[in-house]
Amino acid sequence: MQMLFGTGRDGAYPDLVFTDPLTGLGNQRRFFSRIARLISDRAEDPAPFAVGIVDLDGFKPINDLFGRGAGDEILLQVAMRLRAAMDSHSSVVRFGADEFAFLLPMVFSEEAAAEKARMLIEVLSAPYDLGQRSARLSASAGCSLFYSGDETTELLVDRAETALYHAKASGRGRVVVYTREMEEAAKRVTHIEQALRRAVSAGEVEPFFQPIVDLRSRRILGFEALARWTDPDLGAVSPSVFIPIAEERGIIGALTELVLRKSVEAARDWPKHLFLSFNLSPSELVDLNTGLNVITTLNQAGFDPHRFEAEITETSLMTDPVAAEKILDDMRGAGIRISLDDFGTGQSSLGRLREIRFDKLKIDRAFVTSILHDKPSEHIIRAILAMCEGLAIDVVAEGIEEKDQAARLIEFGCGGGQGYLFGKPANAIDTLLLLRSAAARGGS
Ligand code: C2E
Ligand code: MG
Ligand code: MG
Repeated sequence: MQMLFGTGRDGAYPDLVFTDPLTGLGNQRRFFSRIARLISDRAEDPAPFAVGIVDLDGFKPINDLFGRGAGDEILLQVAMRLRAAMDSHSSVVRFGADEFAFLLPMVFSEEAAAEKARMLIEVLSAPYDLGQRSARLSASAGCSLFYSGDETTELLVDRAETALYHAKASGRGRVVVYTREMEEAAKRVTHIEQALRRAVSAGEVEPFFQPIVDLRSRRILGFEALARWTDPDLGAVSPSVFIPIAEERGIIGALTELVLRKSVEAARDWPKHLFLSFNLSPSELVDLNTGLNVITTLNQAGFDPHRFEAEITETSLMTDPVAAEKILDDMRGAGIRISLDDFGTGQSSLGRLREIRFDKLKIDRAFVTSILHDKPSEHIIRAILAMCEGLAIDVVAEGIEEKDQAARLIEFGCGGGQGYLFGKPANAIDTLLLLRSAAARGGS
């Protein structure tokens, strides 16, 4: 009977309801019905089994660059490869746009599931033939195991999705098998998400401002806005925790609107020669409305866009380069300057500096921290400075904490600096006080 798993019909429904029209594989519905049947089969025979979801990394850019036809062709080839990689017990379906799911009735352990998933990922990493050209893609996978009758179909699939999420978050081409700790982490994320939703609609996220200075004179040139949030239960939550959650759970638009509005309202009271720098998240650089939303908020607050800088990271340009370029063009058209944040840590590509004109580049703290003791960091900083000079891009070194780091950066010709040495992020009122005392000293 087990042979039927790979090819047979599921119940009384016509085949079409269970079939993906593009690849001819089963669809999500078929997957769920197969798992449900296997769970009921295993009621008397408590042997474990595994399910997994595999997701193609970077499939959307392929669609955009090569066209939908090429995207479909790749999906067909993926389907063929996966089908060929299944043994007679196992089966694969198309689970979503670029997701495929597999059911492994004869896999009894986490190690065996991971091994099988790694094999599938290997199979998918070979080049795809697209007629005139070929494309390469990696894939990530998440698996979960059925151990007892308490586990439902939905639970198994949810867990595989959680594992897949962890696989994708840890880089491309990874396999992760679901564990209990993931469930705890997932619960914490949901808790933060709910608290953040409430805080955003109550307007409780605040911008703090950190000075960016001219390194030689130490005069303040402008400020970077950094979001701060303190929840009554959770306490102060770091933006490096809540920003990614806001992005993933679709809160980032409302969060940005709130923090941006508060930032420009505060910055209106500063001397006119100071700029405001604001971070935009990767997910905002795929939303075509972002540029216009930012411009509208500036206009409504009466803040001159020429005094505004948008900080973006290299990674954020990669998800959808076409959309990102349009958004940057919109902003540049209004006079907004574009700053490349955390330079040197992400997927750095010098080619990108040629394709996109940045007004400013921020050298990541990691290089600045080690500048005094690590020759490679020193060389990298000098090379970045020479390159920016040639390209006429302003430079700001981030995370300067010590005088000697600042001195060394000045020696190398770095113009701008930011870090605890010059000032920690402070709220709007303290920032105004700082500016007043700087003005009284004849500083800024
Ligand atoms: P980032 O844009 O690279 O911001 C610089 C981070 O370095 C800030 O961390 C700042 O507080 C910290 N920092 C500055 N000087 C020093 C120093 O001398 N030493 C050390 N150890 N750290 C220093 P923060 O505020 O925790 O923000 C972390 C990241 O969260 C930011 O990195 C940015 O990517 C993101 N973020 C913060 N606010 C927002 C926001 O409003 N929107 C978006 N999309 N992202 C934000
Ligand atoms: Mg930044
Ligand atoms: Mg940075």
